Amino acid sequence: MATNHNLNFICYKCQASLSTANILLNKNKNEARGRCAKCNIWTTFPLPEIKKKLIYLDQSFFSDIYSETVKEDLNQRLKEKLLLLRQKQKIFLVVSDIHSYETSNIPEQHSKQKTEQWKFQNSMADGCIAGNFDNVVIAQTRRMLLEKNSFETFPHTDIGLKNPHQFMVGMNIISTNTWRDGLNQSSKTSSEQQNEAISDNLDRQVEKLPDNCKLSDCLHHIQELRKGGLQQGIKDFIKDKNFTLQSEEIISEINAGRTPSFQYPQISRSSFYPVIKSVVEGLDEDAALMKWSDLLKNDNLGLCPSLRIRIAMEAELLWIKKQGHRQNPKKFSENFGVSRHHDIQHIASFFPYVDAITTDNEMFNFCQREAVKKELNKYPTKIYAKKYYNDFEAWLSDLIKNS
Ligand SMILES: [Zn+2]
Repeated sequence: MATNHNLNFICYKCQASLSTANILLNKNKNEARGRCAKCNIWTTFPLPEIKKKLIYLDQSFFSDIYSETVKEDLNQRLKEKLLLLRQKQKIFLVVSDIHSYETSNIPEQHSKQKTEQWKFQNSMADGCIAGNFDNVVIAQTRRMLLEKNSFETFPHTDIGLKNPHQFMVGMNIISTNTWRDGLNQSSKTSSEQQNEAISDNLDRQVEKLPDNCKLSDCLHHIQELRKGGLQQGIKDFIKDKNFTLQSEEIISEINAGRTPSFQYPQISRSSFYPVIKSVVEGLDEDAALMKWSDLLKNDNLGLCPSLRIRIAMEAELLWIKKQGHRQNPKKFSENFGVSRHHDIQHIASFFPYVDAITTDNEMFNFCQREAVKKELNKYPTKIYAKKYYNDFEAWLSDLIKNS
């Protein structure tokens, strides 16, 4: 692999150069080991600490550069520059389950594009898949409950990446992750069904808002909805935990030959229950939940950064819907439905962690809306829409020049 670091991989005993095929990366220790074919002994090499730029390319970007019909020079140049920067170990591509889902939905007649795209994503990300939105919310909330000044930095471990800045060397076996393709294909609910559920829910929210409402009312409405869900999840978790404790008492009562007095509690688990459970795993559960619940009561402090971004976006969608804009039923998915929600999830999950992110023009404009912009302006991340791909190319060119 060509890099600007001139590492000499030579056998410590006979000084012979080792072939790349005999060098193995030790990801846990930031070092590599190489075997000399002549002496049959291993030499250990420390690897340099490097900092790569993290990039998130959305599905529309891949559709552009891998389209079989559109062969624009700019698209080709972008692809080549990304590959070169990856070879120079200057960038790391954040690939998510949303990519995997969307790639697996590329129709069979474009199977060549599908395979190429998957290979590109996989090699650019060293075979790593970042966490999904819930994973990021869980990681951020745990840090919020445990650390002081928890959001001064955004560590890549939050998005499920162990070490994207790893110096890559030697022969690295990259798992193909093709199983995810199959998994997503077999387990997906149809987009029509999902869009229908989103539409019903949105209509219900619109009805709850007064006719003379403003954007701030929509924002408040969604914030209260999310906070209410989380508080309910916290209550459910505590109830469930008490029930488990009670069951243990009942068993010991029975074992002691007594008849226990017993009431089966009504536990309805909110959709936030799994998130709550993961947030407090391994922590002092009661103390952590009490702190979180207090933060939620106190001016939205209990909402982590990714949740705040998502809430701002959902509030803007509700505001658009309430005003009666974008009524075209054929464009429901792009405007309000599954397609839009994938964009929302990828921006809310990864925006604070990456150096640059791409979007389609629609989503870019959506990110300029008041409530969303207020959240996104907190981060130095560069955002490139299709109409600004020239600027994206200039940014990539600078990275190449500076290497
Ligand atoms: Zn040797």
